[in-house]
Amino acid sequence: MTQHKVPATTTDAGIPVESDEHSLTVGPDGPVLLQDHYLIEQMANFNRERIPERQPHAKGGGAFGYFEVTNDVSAYTMAAVFQPGTRTNTLIRFSTVAGERGSPDTWRDPRGFALKFYTTQGNYDMVGNNTPIFFVRDPLKFQHFIRSQKRRADNNLRDNDMQWDFWTLSPESAHQVTWLMGDRGIPKTWRTMNGYGSHTYLWINARGQKFWVKYHFKTDQGIDFLTQAEADAIAASDTDYHQRDLYDSIARGELPSWTLNMQIMPFDDAKTYRFNPFDLTKVWPHGDYPLVEVGRLTLNRNVSDYHTEMEQAAFEVNNLVPGIALSPDKMLLARGFSYADAHRARLGVNYKQIPVNAPVVPVHGYSKDGMMRVRNVSDPVYAPNSKGGPQADTQAYQPNYWYADGDLVRSAYTLHAEDDDFGQPGTMVREVLDDAARARLVSNITGHLRKGVTEPVLLRAIEYWRNVDKHLGDKIEAGVRAQHGPANGSAGRS
Ligand code: NDP
Repeated sequence: MTQHKVPATTTDAGIPVESDEHSLTVGPDGPVLLQDHYLIEQMANFNRERIPERQPHAKGGGAFGYFEVTNDVSAYTMAAVFQPGTRTNTLIRFSTVAGERGSPDTWRDPRGFALKFYTTQGNYDMVGNNTPIFFVRDPLKFQHFIRSQKRRADNNLRDNDMQWDFWTLSPESAHQVTWLMGDRGIPKTWRTMNGYGSHTYLWINARGQKFWVKYHFKTDQGIDFLTQAEADAIAASDTDYHQRDLYDSIARGELPSWTLNMQIMPFDDAKTYRFNPFDLTKVWPHGDYPLVEVGRLTLNRNVSDYHTEMEQAAFEVNNLVPGIALSPDKMLLARGFSYADAHRARLGVNYKQIPVNAPVVPVHGYSKDGMMRVRNVSDPVYAPNSKGGPQADTQAYQPNYWYADGDLVRSAYTLHAEDDDFGQPGTMVREVLDDAARARLVSNITGHLRKGVTEPVLLRAIEYWRNVDKHLGDKIEAGVRAQHGPANGSAGRS
């Protein structure tokens, strides 16, 4: 008998196998036999290794860590995870949006910043991005937006014309496109970018008082970015640059961290605030609602099995704990359905039983059976019952929402004084960026517009940028025309 220094190979049923190298055949050159069930198990498993990639946010990576509360915000929320002195284990996943699982990390794109807090009140997920805003404000447009950023039907290529066609017909995208084409559109590493909840959420304190809030995770490593030329060079040599950077830095003990700050708006301010506070294309200027420190997120452990801990990680905005609730942001409300639905489609109905998605507290529910249920269910399997099954604590946990009424309509927000699409991106261009950053913005936009954008779309794009800032639009037109030559007609002037 062979003395094994390493464990003996087994089948997936734990049965020792006879060889790692040779199939069972009739003689050394004979036919392979159907009863070689280990060979068949290996082939069958291999053929089924891939699960559907996420649509969007397919390419990503992340790590485990912990969140420590450093300030007392109990006046605003009763959520256990944000009470003074609390430390909670977390999982984070960073990602690009439009690219596929093998696409380069350094393509210009927003980055996902999805967090799971394994709290004493169940899992709390904060499914954010590295940007405080988004391209659209209505969920009906989301699917179309993503399709316009991915691949054409005919040649399966990405297409700048398709991207600009959608953006220029959706002027609410101007704020996010300004952000995307600026320096922060290609972070140097995942460690050197901020994370934002982007949406407005509701916080509720122990006395039932409500506050509208926005999450800002500010990197403690400092913001850093790649120029387009640097990013292109890296994309050609190391498609996994960001994933490698995070893994290596944690492995050598350089633990990245982010400080969580909140913007907190008294509940009644929402009605009269100059911007619609639930519009995902708008920020709340810091001068209106300053940042309030809450705590620090630190990443300290790499995943050891990418498939089970990252590819099967499922984040969803429905995972809210008492003290945190949704707001009337239409995109947020639609994500509530869409994310859980995506997980059911990709991972199966029992995806919350996969260990990385399972809470650290016991589950006492009435969900039953379905594909891949592994957690035991016991009787009674229905509610209400008189057989000792779990009962909702309706005194302790009540819905914490807002008041809404009105006719059924399909329309955009119209009620707030500064709800235009170009004001905030104009402020960013004129007041936040310096001359060098503005020059890079012009260069990035011009470079993008030069690649395959048709004349009618180009005319709209120049007008779009003039609406953000007249000077910026003029420079972009000059930059594009230097390559393209003069347009026929009025060159985008309205
Ligand atoms: P502030 O001067 O208080 O804040 C400006 C913000 O811009 C800071 O959060 C800063 O982030 C961020 N910033 C700096 N450089 C860039 C860049 N190249 N791309 C994107 N963001 C950048 O001004 P206001 O709060 O009044 O906001 C002014 C404009 O700044 C807004 O219209 C919006 O376009 C943009 N902005 C605002 C944010 C907000 O939540 N209020 C967040 C991000 C952008 P940091 O401090 O980390 O460097």
